[in-house]
Amino acid sequence: MSVFEHPSFDNHEKVLFATDDATGLKAIIGVHSTARGPAVGGCRFWSYENSEAALNDALRLSQGMSYKNVMADLPIGGGKSVIMKPAGAFDRDALFTAFGRAVDTLGGAYITAEDVGVSPADMVSVRKSTKFVTGLPEGEAASGDPSPVTAEGVFRGIKVSAERAFGSRDLSGKRIAVQGAAGHVGAYLCRHLSEAGAELIITDINEPGLCKLEAELGATVVAPDAIYDQQADIFAPCALGSIIKADTIGRLKVKVVAGAANNQLATRDMGAELQKRGILYAPDYVINAGGIINVMGEISGDFDPKWVQGKLDGLEKTLGEILDRAESEGRPSNLVADDIARARLENARAQKAA
Ligand code: NAD
Repeated sequence: MSVFEHPSFDNHEKVLFATDDATGLKAIIGVHSTARGPAVGGCRFWSYENSEAALNDALRLSQGMSYKNVMADLPIGGGKSVIMKPAGAFDRDALFTAFGRAVDTLGGAYITAEDVGVSPADMVSVRKSTKFVTGLPEGEAASGDPSPVTAEGVFRGIKVSAERAFGSRDLSGKRIAVQGAAGHVGAYLCRHLSEAGAELIITDINEPGLCKLEAELGATVVAPDAIYDQQADIFAPCALGSIIKADTIGRLKVKVVAGAANNQLATRDMGAELQKRGILYAPDYVINAGGIINVMGEISGDFDPKWVQGKLDGLEKTLGEILDRAESEGRPSNLVADDIARARLENARAQKAA
């Protein structure tokens, strides 16, 4: 297993491997950059096949958080953590409290929050052992579950993308395929899309959640793997990453890929492959920044919904600029976004060093 040579190592400032025998904790915390402030990013709780898969996720997600936070022009750096779900029985509260102890050893260089598999209640457990935690359900300036705001940002990103691809932001009658529809972000997004008049095709591996949504929104349900084959206008990946890859890209029949999942492209060259096929890609870390924007409101200690809305307006503008530049330069949108993010981070590093 390589660390320094890993393609997403990208000069991570720190990577912490934390274990705790008593609770079964095995966690990896990536601190990619603190050039603009403490590294902020969620904690993922997942059944990884092995520690290499967990490290890969931690590094890719952590680097992605730096890019996301700088693109949203937030005064924070980027980091992320993963906890490998123990195979047998475990005490969830004790596990997350132990994770909090690991976070605390970084002395504020990393501030955690929710990601896939983690709830605001888990953050309460983390809070027992560190103050470097956000996304708490209550307390001063508590911002709670970030998912509704993430979903709103993705919804706005979909409308900007629709304007480019179809000449209008109006989503009524548009067929939109949503992967991970029963998830925290997916369900809120589906409700926005349904209200906007879109025709939904949904999938999830959580069948009861999916059935509930089907009944609520009258959506068409398809099997998880069939989502790639749908004759639709827009594909919104809202489950896990690396789903746009060699064996799925050729199956897509949509004109737009825009969703909440982090690291949707398995490799950076998938952006060029989408472009070749005439599919507009809304870079994931640009349009899924709503949650971190919401969390930022909590970190600042003065949660202001108006500020959050202003930042979501900024997200739409940034996406528009990226898509303009991608079009005028004839380059894939993901590479244009990465260039902008890296230049801003370099600038911040230089300013910090000066
Ligand atoms: P979640 O765990 O609540 O939802 C994910 C959903 O995907 C679940 O319902 C799960 O059953 C489903 N799923 C998993 N594998 C699947 C598969 N193969 N096919 C279909 N469905 C599958 O997580 P979430 O918080 O909604 O986050 C979703 C994505 O958005 C993640 O990639 C996350 O990193 C990203 N994201 C979330 C936020 C946030 O505010 N929650 C912010 C930014 C980015």
